[in-house]
Amino acid sequence: MTPLPRFDLAGEAALVTGASSGIGRHLARLLAAAGARVALAARRLDRLTEAARDIEAEGGRAVAIALDVTRADSIAAAVTAAEEAIGPLSLLVNNAGVSVAKPVLEHSEADWDHVLDTNLKGAWLAAQHFARHLVAQQRPGRIVNIASVLGLRTIAHVPAYCAAKAGLIHLTRVLAMEFARHRILVNALAPGYLETDLNREFLQSDAGRRLAARIPLRRVAQLDDLDGAMLLLASPAGAYITGAVIPVDGGHGVAPI
Ligand code: NDP
Repeated sequence: MTPLPRFDLAGEAALVTGASSGIGRHLARLLAAAGARVALAARRLDRLTEAARDIEAEGGRAVAIALDVTRADSIAAAVTAAEEAIGPLSLLVNNAGVSVAKPVLEHSEADWDHVLDTNLKGAWLAAQHFARHLVAQQRPGRIVNIASVLGLRTIAHVPAYCAAKAGLIHLTRVLAMEFARHRILVNALAPGYLETDLNREFLQSDAGRRLAARIPLRRVAQLDDLDGAMLLLASPAGAYITGAVIPVDGGHGVAPI
């Protein structure tokens, strides 16, 4: 028995939101390396184009697509453009996300809306459109939502972010339940801290360094720490997994901190 071919993504086509930097850019590269054709989507087309070019230079197939996940019309246009370029989509990675770091008492209504609209409503709109599209054509598919350890536990000063990620985790379960009959699997990754544009300033601060020291594995994550769980959820190896939330957090979620 050779189990590794079950992780092969040859023949798959993936749309990755928030692929212009950080985790999304890395995951798009990972999926391409596993054989998928990938559409990299976000608002900054110049950065997407550069990322897609890097993937193609490594022998993958990639295309850059402009997308604002807070707008349903933009999602619909991105799916159409992605399919024109790389063929029928089989995988959606809901990764686009933003964060606002301020104490609860200083959070404005606009801060709340910005974070919830991107991290929760954006994922909802994209998942709903993707599923409607697949169901209409009776095609199976997969959705992987990038949640966070902060959807499972608390930390000060990111209330909207924690609420959005907790919402995304429960939405994952609800969508998994409704979409199973359509052969669309829905799962979530809940990464722990990982240094990207989203949190570089915090992780390089004294408070950030203290936090990293309290993670059971004593370090923040590297991008490639996400690879095993992502490939499992994206590939035939995970064919019987739906509604799961997989923490990739060095034990942060079970630590008494
Ligand atoms: P980055 O800031 O590096 O990336 C965020 C991405 O989201 C960018 O590509 C950005 O692209 C995109 N984005 C933001 N708003 C929109 C929008 N309205 N429409 C489309 N794309 C958008 O952060 P990370 O890579 O760290 O974050 C990626 C995901 O991982 C997020 O969901 C985050 O919450 C999650 N996460 C991150 C962790 C970490 O420690 N870094 C830990 C746990 C989860 P553009 O500006 O070009 O639109």
